[in-house]
Amino acid sequence: MKRWICLLLAAVLALSLTACGAPKTEALDIFAMDTYMSLVAVGDGAFDVLQRSSNEINTLEQKLSRTIATSDVAQLNANGSTVLDEGTAELLRRALRYSEETGGAFDVTIAPLVELWGITTDHPRVPAREEIDALLPLVGTEHVHAAGTEASLDEGCAIDLGGIAKGYASDCVAALFAASGITGGFASLGGNVYVHGDTADGQPWKVAIQDPQKTDAFACTLHLSDAFVVTSGGYQRNFTGPDGTVYQHIIDPATGYPAVSDLLSVSVITYGAADGQGTRADAYSTALYVMGEEAAVDFWRARQASFDMVLVTEDGRVLYTPGLKDCFDETEGSGYVYQPLAA
Ligand code: AMP
Ligand code: MG
Repeated sequence: MKRWICLLLAAVLALSLTACGAPKTEALDIFAMDTYMSLVAVGDGAFDVLQRSSNEINTLEQKLSRTIATSDVAQLNANGSTVLDEGTAELLRRALRYSEETGGAFDVTIAPLVELWGITTDHPRVPAREEIDALLPLVGTEHVHAAGTEASLDEGCAIDLGGIAKGYASDCVAALFAASGITGGFASLGGNVYVHGDTADGQPWKVAIQDPQKTDAFACTLHLSDAFVVTSGGYQRNFTGPDGTVYQHIIDPATGYPAVSDLLSVSVITYGAADGQGTRADAYSTALYVMGEEAAVDFWRARQASFDMVLVTEDGRVLYTPGLKDCFDETEGSGYVYQPLAA
């Protein structure tokens, strides 16, 4: 009899573990903003929040894309002036602030040169020096006039929010995650990652930083909660010119040429779901890639309490800021030399 009671208890226990064991995890993969995106949510309302996040990302793409003719950005570029959606106007204001903060390394008025090089299109080409020189005077935030939701551009100028739009989208996803009942969430929007709460096992999320020199390999791994990890690098999009030179998609606003960086990739890590930290990390990662190692480290030192970063250098080093030391895993056998930066 005792044996039967024990068996019965074991069966009840097994049933209850199934019912209240690991919280339910839902996943959704989408293609938006010209990239593959993966969303994961854990806990109550997981499916619902993923649907909302996907809808939000698609809505944002319709407003922010340079190549969708009806978007706010395309209308502004085509007509020279327009009334923007409230969110687009706020994002443009922030983009202008980040240009100032990064000394122009991040600059959304780079659009005419992005278009000229066509790097993200099916027909990229190496333009003549004269073509580049003719467009360089159109680059500079002084050409953008924004007041409230009204925006206008000087003649011939255009904007490209491609260096900041996915970060902004990750901020919107972070807000949806925070307002839902989920206990954990992961959003990877093509190089822009946001992690919320914990995994189904109650652990911080593992965010792997891509090895820029090898597909399917990682330079390092971070263990994080409630953080954005945004990576920029020449390896993400590029084309090879007729003479074998590789031209990548981030353009140096000072020269009009694809940035020639001593960095292979820059990952910027910011914390907290509020205050547009995803947008900030996205603007910084593009800018720090343009700046190169020395200026990027100076930039971080000037505001070091407020963000972390991982730099993968051309000469085989992985530099990381001290704020990451407890959540940073080297990749064994990667061939990189790992160096924590001094504060
Ligand atoms: P990201 O992947 O966030 O570094 O952004 C790169 C994208 O931003 C490019 O594909 C362009 O659309 C745009 N872009 C290129 N150079 C710059 C720049 N210097 N500042 C701002 N946006 C840029
Ligand atoms: Mg960016």
